[in-house]
Order: sequence, then C-alpha cells, then structure tokens
Amino acid sequence: MKVIDILNNSKKTLFSFELLPPLKGHNIETIFSTIDKLKPYNPAYINITYHREEVVYTTNSNGVKIPVKLRRRPGTVGLSAAIQQKYGIDVVPHIICGGFDAHETEDALIDLDFLGINNILAVRGDADKITGRFEAKPGGHSYAIDLVKQVANLNKGIYLEKLMEEPKPTNFCIGVAGYPEKHPESPNCDSDIHYLKKKVEAGASYIVTQMFFDNRHYFRFVKRCREAGIKVPIIPGLKPISVKHHLNILPKVFDVHIPQELVLEVEKCKTNAEVTQLGVEWAIAQSKELVKANVPALHFYTMGKADNIAQIAKNVF
Ligand code: FAD
Repeated sequence: MKVIDILNNSKKTLFSFELLPPLKGHNIETIFSTIDKLKPYNPAYINITYHREEVVYTTNSNGVKIPVKLRRRPGTVGLSAAIQQKYGIDVVPHIICGGFDAHETEDALIDLDFLGINNILAVRGDADKITGRFEAKPGGHSYAIDLVKQVANLNKGIYLEKLMEEPKPTNFCIGVAGYPEKHPESPNCDSDIHYLKKKVEAGASYIVTQMFFDNRHYFRFVKRCREAGIKVPIIPGLKPISVKHHLNILPKVFDVHIPQELVLEVEKCKTNAEVTQLGVEWAIAQSKELVKANVPALHFYTMGKADNIAQIAKNVF
C-alpha cells in the first residue's frame, strides 16, 4: 500500500521507523531482531536508507583530515523486499542522487517495482565531508527534485530509454525530506521551503522531516510550509539521544540544535544507560505533544537501536 493512502486512511497518529542496512559483511538477522522488537507497536511502514560508500576520516596532528577506511552499506533493495515479504509491512526504500547515474537509478526503480514495492523516499545524499559540496556522478542528478521528476515520469510510463513495446508505468508513492531548522546548505528558510515546494509540485506526496529536539521547530516549519502553499502531510522525524557523544555529533552531522535544558541534563548523567533513559523520556514528551497536535505519523530514526524506540512507542501508541 502507498504511504499516502496509509496516512489518509488513518484517523490517528501512526508509528514508523527508519533502518540502516547492515555494514558490508554483517548479517540481516540484526535487522530482523530490530523489527521483531518494534513490530508489537504496529509500524505503519518501515524506511530503509540508501548509502553510497562513506569515507571515514581521522585528523592528524596538524588538524588535517586523512581518509582511513571506506564503509559500505549495500543491500537496500534486497533488504526492503525481504522485510516486506517476511513481515507484510510496507517498506519505503530510500533512493539517492549521490553515486548513481540516472540509468542506474532507473534500473533500481525497476527492481523495486518488480519486487512489489510501491513507495520510495527520494533524497539527494550528503555533501562531501571535506569539500562541503555535493558532486553528482556524471549523468546523475544534482538535486532530489530531479529524482522526484524521474520517478514521476516512470509512473507515467516515461522511461529514459525509448522502449520497443508499450511501456508499463510504475506506481510509486514518493516522499521527500524537509528541514525544520533549514538544510545546512540553504541560505535561509524561505529558500529551503521554496525548493521543498518544487519537490511537492514535481510529484512528492508527503514530507518527512529531519530530526529536531524542540517541537517548536516543527510547528514553525509546518506553519511556514502551509503559508507557502505546501499542503501535503509533514511527518516529524525523531531521534532519541542515547549516548553523551550525541551532544556533539548530532548537531555537527545534521545541523540541528539540542536545547540547553537537554544538554545540561545529559551532562549530569554518569552512565550511557542514564543518557538513554533521559533520551527516551525527552522523546516521549516530544511525541505526546506531537500526537496531541494530531501529526500524521511519528517517524523514528533508530540508528540500529530498537530498545529505546520500543520504550517510547510503548508509552505513546
Ligand atoms: P535537496 O532537496 O536536493 O536539497 C539540497 C539543498 O539544495 C537544500 O539546501 C535545498 O534548499 C537546495 N536546493 C534544492 N533544489 C535546488 C535547486 N533546484 N537549486 C538550488 N538549490 C536547490 N542521505 C543518504 O545518503 N541516504 C539516505 O537514505 C538518506 N535519508 C534521509 C531521510 C530523511 C528523512 C532526511 C531528512 C535526510 C536523509 N538523508 C539521506 C540525508 C540527505 O541526503 C541530506 O540531508 C542531503 O544533504 C539533502 O538531501 P535532500 O533530499 O533534502 O536534498
């Protein structure tokens, strides 16, 4: 079923979460055990991220970043099909611009279509960590909107190659990303929302937000989107803090702010178990306020952890 139909058919706030494919050489069982822990809370759908190879850097004594290894997380398409078949829960594989040319993207979309997957989340992929710039592969897309257009075209039976026979249209529901605190490369919120609206006009049916730790960012963002004429559902993305290191790494990687009150409480914690508990309580409070505001779904970034998300879901759904 398409995510937009799932959202439209529901009168209450739904539960969904995002999984990362295991690192190359790791086992699919870890993914299944995460889903097993969260399945009792009736996830409406499950997102699976897509990754190009990720370079891991170290910094030498002169402060220069040096690449030390490559990490790869292949398997999004296979994993998505395996999950949908094993659990009967709709999956939302992500597709990205980075590392792919448009023909490779078309092939991945055809695979997904053959596998009975009717949802995708179209995102650009991150900028290079050193240059801070996003570089498309030759023949690839520079912005998520180009992916949205490609999928929307496939939904009309318009393939990149001229086909001999009557082409079969695909039937994908397209989601896109939005940024309550603005995308880091965007000069301002108005510009970011302007381009977000273009993604919706190009064929996206709903928006999932970047994580935020203060609901006021989400409410303000939704208001601005509505004022700009964006009418589609806007699903809040939530990430419970679980280790002290998150205080540094999450703002750095995702360009989000952690409220001072939460920072001070985390700093007082003596163990990571205490941090996890605090993160759960903070996310429960955020979730309850969002449910009260009747948001379409709460979307959780698991980052490989299920126990804390299960605790939140138990208290909220
Ligand atoms: P875009 O919509 O292309 O926007 C990127 C920037 O360009 C923004 O600043 C925007 O305002 C601007 N812009 C957009 N269109 C134009 C235009 N035509 N001209 C000029 N400027 C423009 N990354 C992964 O690698 N894999 C994943 O699976 C993944 N999943 C994600 C899921 C969610 C819910 C979110 C929020 C992010 C995810 N990301 C993922 C990270 C994402 O790839 C990055 O945040 C990336 O930097 C931007 O992606 P986007 O789709 O929002 O890009």
